[in-house]
Amino acid sequence: RAKEMGGNNYQFYTTAMRERLGERVQMETAMRRALERREFVLYYQPQVDIASGRIVAMEALVRWQHPEMGMVAPGRFIPLAEETGMILPLGAWVLESACRQLVEWQREGRPYLRVAVNVSARQMAEQDFVADVARVLAETGLEPATLELELTESAVMNDVEHAIGVMLELKKLGVKLAIDDFGTGYSSLAHLKRFAVDVLKIDQAFVRDLTIDPDDAAIVTTIIALAANLNLQVISEGVETLDQLSFLREHGCSQMQGYYFSRPVPATAINTVLDENEAQLAAGNGMTVGAG
Ligand code: C2E
Ligand code: MG
Ligand code: MG
Ligand code: MG
Repeated sequence: RAKEMGGNNYQFYTTAMRERLGERVQMETAMRRALERREFVLYYQPQVDIASGRIVAMEALVRWQHPEMGMVAPGRFIPLAEETGMILPLGAWVLESACRQLVEWQREGRPYLRVAVNVSARQMAEQDFVADVARVLAETGLEPATLELELTESAVMNDVEHAIGVMLELKKLGVKLAIDDFGTGYSSLAHLKRFAVDVLKIDQAFVRDLTIDPDDAAIVTTIIALAANLNLQVISEGVETLDQLSFLREHGCSQMQGYYFSRPVPATAINTVLDENEAQLAAGNGMTVGAG
């Protein structure tokens, strides 16, 4: 009986594994084709200075405009792209597109604007990554200080010593570095001291129940204090309500990002978002009205 079950289990697992492998190969093929057919698009979500209400940066967030499935969110293809290695050509495309886009926005009269680009662990592990970033900066003519790379805490912790080296090299290029999803990746304070980062990005998991869960409130205020003491900037992601924003403002968080201000929007909608933001500021309104 046990043997029979074991046999069944074995068969079950191999079938599941075969399906999984098939899914991976299919996804890889589909993504390769999608890159050729230019089916990936970048959406941009504003990052806002809380004190002034001014948009200071845009985070590039990739979507897949699939001919049948419609707009596919990154949660559904980034993990597989990381497994298959397709994140390398995709990530290169994201970086270059975001830099080109930012140069355009800066030339249209917003030289202060920055762009934040997500970088996966797999990209960071690549030998050529720093050289690729340098090449994109040179080719687009982008001012390095206006590019911010978001490295997830877990990616950095994957291979700490390597990551520390890569971060130092990236800093030499003059780009800004942020630790994304901060608080979820088990980095020790001893490591944090050695990371050449400029920004801590508080994970939205802690922001969600900020105003009702004392533990989350404690975590968020502690990260804000930590950032202040280490002379780092701090931004909260996933801010959806005025109550969350008020809490963050009161506790000294300098920047925010989230649906309360604006959802991620297509590049074509960004000029409107920026115009509205400037009109709000000119009218003397801080962060009272969001863009979406
Ligand atoms: P992330 O970098 O932490 O980005 C934040 C995610 O939270 C985005 O989801 C954003 O749309 C969403 N978000 C923003 N504000 C709010 C809010 O107020 N409430 C809620 N509930 N969610 C909010 P998205 O665009 O689906 O991206 C998910 C993740 O996929 C990103 O998390 C990032 O890890 C990854 N990703 C997206 N684009 C890229 C990329 O170009 N390269 C890489 N390597 N990863 C990417
Ligand atoms: Mg991010
Ligand atoms: Mg994040
Ligand atoms: Mg996150």
